[in-house]
Amino acid sequence: MEIKIYQGASEIGGTITGISCGKTRILIDFGRPLTGDDRKDRLHIKDPYDAVIFTHYHRDHTDLLPYAAEKIPTYMGKTAKALFLAEQRHKDPDGEIIRRIEKMKEYEDGVAFDVGELRITPLLTDHSAFDSYMLLIEGDGRRVLHTGDFRLHGIKGDLVLPALLPLENTVDVMIMEGTNLSFADPVTVSEYHLTDAAGLLMQRFPYVFVQCGAMDIDRLAAFHMASRGRRFCCDPYQMSVLETVRKSGQARKYPAYSFDRARVWMTGSIVSSDEIEKQPFCTAVRVGSDFRRIIEPYAKALPEKTLFIYSMSEGYLRGHLGDVQKLTKGLRYAVKIHTSGHASAEALRLAAETVRPAALIPVHTKQGKNFDLQLPDVRILHLADGESFQV
Ligand SMILES: [Zn+2]
Ligand SMILES: [Zn+2]
Repeated sequence: MEIKIYQGASEIGGTITGISCGKTRILIDFGRPLTGDDRKDRLHIKDPYDAVIFTHYHRDHTDLLPYAAEKIPTYMGKTAKALFLAEQRHKDPDGEIIRRIEKMKEYEDGVAFDVGELRITPLLTDHSAFDSYMLLIEGDGRRVLHTGDFRLHGIKGDLVLPALLPLENTVDVMIMEGTNLSFADPVTVSEYHLTDAAGLLMQRFPYVFVQCGAMDIDRLAAFHMASRGRRFCCDPYQMSVLETVRKSGQARKYPAYSFDRARVWMTGSIVSSDEIEKQPFCTAVRVGSDFRRIIEPYAKALPEKTLFIYSMSEGYLRGHLGDVQKLTKGLRYAVKIHTSGHASAEALRLAAETVRPAALIPVHTKQGKNFDLQLPDVRILHLADGESFQV
């Protein structure tokens, strides 16, 4: 078996991992780093490959999909594919990427499938993208575990280590994301603590607007839980996303994904009138869309009774500060509440100590060297882009 990191060995996002065995090669994820470079022209994968397996739908893992070889099969988790399709149809109904997503094969938690000489077993994990997976790859008597992006402090944080425990001492190489080792002080509080904090804030305000990404399902679940007895309002696109989540098997195990008070309040492209709604509510809004029109009446007439909670990473916020300022103009109370979509240093250590791999390759981080400090007892292999390792 051979592991080759084609791209993103020492960057956040854009990691493309090749795993080959005999005549078979698969690629795991096919996106661009989050640095903003348009690097599609610089990516040349000359090695032939037999499949691309996506761990989840985030753009830094998927946005090169239209450049993947047309004839080879691509795979994604069943619900992740449905959400990814909904997102792209909303953004650009005629986009080339839609045809490619429609063709994707679907996989499910714990159900192994074969690509040539490789067997792939997806393991559902916890991440800010819904229906994200770690991938166990087996071939030629060897085992590689690719963590994709993960964390332990989300809604499903409790399932990660128990899913890894059966792999203890059986994995030759663990390829692990290390996003938060790139930052001095990442915020990694649990989504349940974030729920408590948002709930306390909401108590004082009858009218609450919450801003986060339409696909940031855990954060929406946290805001929905925090809003307790109120109606949870959103636009038709957001509602269709929540319904997809509600229908997934994960909603049966995690009631946080039931979204039972979610309703479409806004009709058409945006709200039907500028009347003030008197019942307390929590309404999900987004940047980059014309949600200002539903906030404006409250900013003008009821600024003392209206709360705006915005939730995005520091990097994203830097790029959208103007959008947030537009949405919150005239409001007196705007609060940022956020937690990382990625594992804390402690969580990375726990995952590695649970699996006890013979070796570990850091990816999806700017500071792979920090793994040596975090995991002094693990053999860490630092691969550069284009470098390979024989398992
Ligand atoms: Zn990522
Ligand atoms: Zn991700």
